Amino acid sequence: MEEFKSSKKSDRLLGLNQKIDRRDFLNSSLLGAGSILYSMSAPSLLFANESLPNQVTNNWYGYGGVGDSKTSHGNTPDILKAAHAVRDGFMNSDKAKGIPVSEDYDLVIVGGGLSGLGAAQRFIEKDPNKKCLILDNHPIFGGEAKRNEFEIEDQIIQAPQGSNSFYYNTQIDFDEDRKYIELLGVPADDFTYGEMPNNPKKMVFAQEHYDVQLWAEEYISKGHFVDEQSHDVKPQWVNNPWKNNLKDYPVSDKIRQDLLTWKYTTKMPATDNKTKAWLDNMTYKDYIEKVMGLDEAVTKFADPVIASAGGMGCDVMSAYTAQLLGMYGVAPDEPIKPENRHSFPGGNDGFARHFIKFLIPNAIHGKNSFQDIMQKPINFKALDHPDNSVRCRLNSNVMDVTHVNKAGNSESVHVTYYNNGKLNKVNAKAVIMASGGWINKHIISDLPKTHYDAYAKFNHAPMLVANVALTNWRFLHKLGITAYQWTGGFGYHTNIRRPMHVGSDKPILDPDTPIVLTFYVSFEKANLGYTAQQQSRLGQYELLSKSYMDYEREIRQQMLKMFGGSGFDVKKDIAGIILNRWGHGYVTPTPGFFFDKNGGPGYADIIKTTPHGRISFGHSEVRGYQHWGPAAAEGGRAVDQVYNYL
Ligand SMILES: Cc1cc2nc3c(=O)[nH]c(=O)nc-3n(C[C@H](O)[C@H](O)[C@H](O)COP(=O)(O)OP(=O)(O)OC[C@H]3O[C@@H](n4cnc5c(N)ncnc54)[C@H](O)[C@@H]3O)c2cc1C
Repeated sequence: MEEFKSSKKSDRLLGLNQKIDRRDFLNSSLLGAGSILYSMSAPSLLFANESLPNQVTNNWYGYGGVGDSKTSHGNTPDILKAAHAVRDGFMNSDKAKGIPVSEDYDLVIVGGGLSGLGAAQRFIEKDPNKKCLILDNHPIFGGEAKRNEFEIEDQIIQAPQGSNSFYYNTQIDFDEDRKYIELLGVPADDFTYGEMPNNPKKMVFAQEHYDVQLWAEEYISKGHFVDEQSHDVKPQWVNNPWKNNLKDYPVSDKIRQDLLTWKYTTKMPATDNKTKAWLDNMTYKDYIEKVMGLDEAVTKFADPVIASAGGMGCDVMSAYTAQLLGMYGVAPDEPIKPENRHSFPGGNDGFARHFIKFLIPNAIHGKNSFQDIMQKPINFKALDHPDNSVRCRLNSNVMDVTHVNKAGNSESVHVTYYNNGKLNKVNAKAVIMASGGWINKHIISDLPKTHYDAYAKFNHAPMLVANVALTNWRFLHKLGITAYQWTGGFGYHTNIRRPMHVGSDKPILDPDTPIVLTFYVSFEKANLGYTAQQQSRLGQYELLSKSYMDYEREIRQQMLKMFGGSGFDVKKDIAGIILNRWGHGYVTPTPGFFFDKNGGPGYADIIKTTPHGRISFGHSEVRGYQHWGPAAAEGGRAVDQVYNYL
C-alpha cells in the first residue's frame, strides 16, 4: 500500500481536506497544523526531566463533539498548564502568597472521578448534615468515566472517553460493583441491546470494548489483520483464529503451539498469599518465558493486550497484576461471558451520572429514572449550590494541600485551588485525595517522606482513546466481522458495540446508519530495555507531542490500510473524530506493588493504610487494578480513615 507521508497531495487523498466534525476549531490551513511546539526535551532527556507541554493550542486539543462534555475530552489544555505550573514551583512564588481563606467545610475531596464521588457517597451516608466540597479540574465530573457525543445525521451517538465496561452477575463480580449498582438503582437486571434485524452472516457483536481484545474473542466475530509488516505475508484477514487452533494464523508451528499452551494451560498458580507474593515479584514476561517456558513471541502477543488494561507491556507489569487482569496462563478463573459484560452508551459515565444524581438530586434535569439520568442535560448550576450537603466545583485545579499546623497538632487543612483565573483557599477539617499519585506527591506540601517515596515508585501509563464517528459501517459489514486487531501502525484494536437500550431510545444495528469506532491506544514500549519510568516518559512524550491533525492522519491511514479493500471511503465515511488524551491513564503495577519479596505489604500499601494527619488517600490507583466499583470503595475507605476529625 502507498505510504502516506504528510504532504498536500497525500493529505487530500486521505480526505484530510474533507468537511467533518473538526472544522469548528481548525482554520483552513491544514498544512500549517503540523506538530505543536512543546517545551519538551528530546526523548533521551526525558528520563531526567519531568517535562510537560508549555504551549497547548486548539490544534492540539481538537474537536469535542456536542452536549455537556464537548469542552472536556481527556486532559484539557488548562489542566496541562496547571500541572506545569505546579511542577515549576508556582506555589512558592509571591503570586501564591497571602491568599485568604474564603470558605470552611467539614471535608474537601480533591478529584471528582468515581473515587471522589464514592467518597462523597460515604460522607453523606455517615451524616447528611455535614458539608463537603468536591474540587475537580475538568469542566465536568467523572474523571476517566466521561462520554463523548457526536451528532451525525440528526442522531446523537455516544462513546466512552475512557472507562467503558462493567460486569454483572458473573462468577468474579466485585462485591463493590454490586453494592453500588443496588444503592444507585442501576437497572442492571433489565439491560437490553440492539440487534441486527437482518443478519445472514450471523455477525456477533460485543457489548463493550474489552472482552473482544482477548478474553471473549471466540464468542465474537473478530478478525486479525496481518500483513508484510506484522507477519511477512500479503495483507489479509484471519478471522477468529483461535477457533481452529490458530491453523490459519501465520506463525511457525512452535510459536503456534506455545500460543495455544499459553491460552489453554490448566496448570495455574495457587491462590494463597505466598504464591501471590511470588507472582508479584516477577514480571509477567518472566512468568511466560521462564516459568511457562514459552517463546518470546507469546509475550509480544500479550503486550498490547495487557497494555490496553494496564498501560504497559509484560516486561514491566507484575505477574500478579496479570492475574488480576485475567491474563492467560496465570488467572485460573473462566473469562467472563460476553453477555455479562456491559457498557452504557457513553461508557462508565453512566455510573458517574448515577452517583451525582444520588448526591445532588437536582444535578441532572428530569426525574430519578434510568432514562433521565442517562440522557437529560446536567444542571451545572445545582452542582455547587450552597444548600447542598455535597457541593461539586468544576474547573478547579487544586495546587496545594497542607495542614495549617504540623500534622498531628493541626485543627484543619488548607486547600488552595485555581479557578477562573484566580487562586482561592478553603479550610477543611479533613481532606480526601481522590486524585492520582502523580499529582498528590507534588501538591501536598507537607507530605512525609514515607509517602513521597512510595508515590515515587508508582508508574503511570498514558492512554489515548480516539472515537471515530462513521456515517455508515457497510465496509465493516462486508468483512463479516465486528472486532478488529492488527499489529503496527495506529492502535491495535477496535470494535463495534451492540448499543444499549436506554428508555425509549432503542437503536438497532444497521450497517447503513452511523456508528462510532473506539480505538484504545496504549504507548507501550515493551522489550526495548526501558524501565517502567522510562516507558512512561516516552509514552507521555508521544501522546502529547502530536497535533490533532497528526492523529487524524494516522487514523485515516490505518483505516484505509485495513478497510480500503472492503469499500471504506476514506474521504466520505468518517463523520468526526474526538481525541481523549490521558497523560496518566493507568497506574502500572510493577513487581512489588502489592507484596514485598517476603510476602509483606508492597510499596503501595502505606498510601492506602496510613493517612497523613487529616489527609487520606482514596484514589483507584491504590488498588492496582483500576475498576469503577473498587475506585468508589477506595474513596469511601478514605473517608472512614479521617472521619473522627469531622
Ligand atoms: C483508557 C482507560 C480505560 C478504562 N476502562 C475501564 C473500564 O472499562 N472499566 C472500569 O471499571 N475501569 C476502567 N478504567 C479505570 C478507571 O480509571 C477507574 O475505573 C475509575 O474510573 C478511576 O476513578 P478515580 O476517581 O480513581 O480516577 P479518575 O477517574 O482519574 O478521577 C480523578 C479526578 O481527579 C481529577 N484531578 C486530578 N488532579 C487534580 C487536582 N490537582 N485538582 C482537581 N482535580 C484533580 C482528575 O482530573 C479526575 O477528574 C479505565 C481507565 C482508562 C485510563
